[in-house]
Amino acid sequence: MTAATDYLASVRADIERRDPNQTEFLEAIDNFFKTLTPVLEKHPEYIEANIVGRLTEPERIIQFRVPWVDDQGKVQVNRGFRVQFSAAIGPYKGGLRFHPTVNLSIIKFLGFEQTFKNSLTGLPIGGGKGGSDFDPKGKSDGEVMRFTQSFMTELQKHIGPDLDVPAGDIGVGAREIGFLYGQYRRLKGYQAGILTGKGLSYGGSLARTEATGFGLLYYTKALLEAQGDELKGKKIKISGAGNVATYAIQKATELGATVVTASDSNGFVYDPNGIDYTVVKQIKEVERGRISDYAKRVATATYQEGSVWDFDVDYDIALPCATQNEIDGGRAARLAQNGAKVVACGANMPCTPEAVEVFKKNSVLLGPAKAANAGGVAVSALEMSQNSERLSWTFEEVDNRLKDIMKNIFEESAAAAEEYGLGADYLAGSNIAGFNKVADAMMAQGV
Ligand code: GLU
Repeated sequence: MTAATDYLASVRADIERRDPNQTEFLEAIDNFFKTLTPVLEKHPEYIEANIVGRLTEPERIIQFRVPWVDDQGKVQVNRGFRVQFSAAIGPYKGGLRFHPTVNLSIIKFLGFEQTFKNSLTGLPIGGGKGGSDFDPKGKSDGEVMRFTQSFMTELQKHIGPDLDVPAGDIGVGAREIGFLYGQYRRLKGYQAGILTGKGLSYGGSLARTEATGFGLLYYTKALLEAQGDELKGKKIKISGAGNVATYAIQKATELGATVVTASDSNGFVYDPNGIDYTVVKQIKEVERGRISDYAKRVATATYQEGSVWDFDVDYDIALPCATQNEIDGGRAARLAQNGAKVVACGANMPCTPEAVEVFKKNSVLLGPAKAANAGGVAVSALEMSQNSERLSWTFEEVDNRLKDIMKNIFEESAAAAEEYGLGADYLAGSNIAGFNKVADAMMAQGV
């Protein structure tokens, strides 16, 4: 036991004592703490200032009731959250997730991760996350609008362009952002910078829609190039068929790789000739249908129920873009047997700690979520800049900045891993690089 491990154990005990029923948050904490010991050994002043104890307690948690009326005239109620985790390096920034599984533990885990992800982008944004246990699946546009308006009626009291800037996440896309923005404007007047991921007609940024998926591929490209390899000619398995997966498929294809799968919560499609992202986009974004529809339209594709990670086919790269914990230890072993050498996370925390161990044992390189999927929030920060300037940049300008940011994130994470003698442990590297900047800012600002 060193002073650093003792310190982390006592912080961990405090977190659990305050609220033992927060599985996802504790899991995120445990994953993070595994990589923090060498940093604290090098910087005893962080222990002295109790940086980790302060940083693991959100600055503010807002929880609220969201009443709304469904199409049958019945009054429904959901629970809304906004966790303002850390504003040490800029206004709270992070998405809103609408999904029946949403609870405080999940929002806290996402807000915690977001803090370091945002720090890694090199842009001045703090960390936050919010959402609701509302399930948009199967709801009419009218129901989604009424729910979303009720949600914003409360949330607007707590956000602002220099205070807290929400965006989308699972279940919150262009439609929901439009409704949220409209309700804010109705209540408080014009203020472009209160949300990101806005439509282009009302202050959105070009390339924001594509940013997480494109950024994931720019990151993966940088990771491969650091091993003297390239993306061209690679076979990729992707899970998900939402915003991240769709644009990851597009960029992977443009960069000369072949994506052979896409999935949703029911099942997945396999197409050895390469998934056509325009068909996925049509089904998911326009028709709001299921991925099984893809196989009805594309002759070379087949549909199967279940997880894409339980399906055996040889491939080189895995890009999990669906949700947390989708790859467990067993699936990780299968992935390694299928020949995959790289996993880069489009979703937040898609690999369990057991999966991460299996990757290490099998020399599978891991691009962690807070680095690999930071492209979305990075372009959100660029949207904030454009809103402040009252200007819009070209697609090319935003895309070029995104490329640089993703390459930089990879390089900084790799350099941090190198500095601590951790080789190609990019998970530890990105935790350390993200943490250092937030810790520095907290040290400078006093208690
Ligand atoms: N939900 C995305 C994320 O997990 C984007 C957040 C944002 O743009 O603020 O990073």
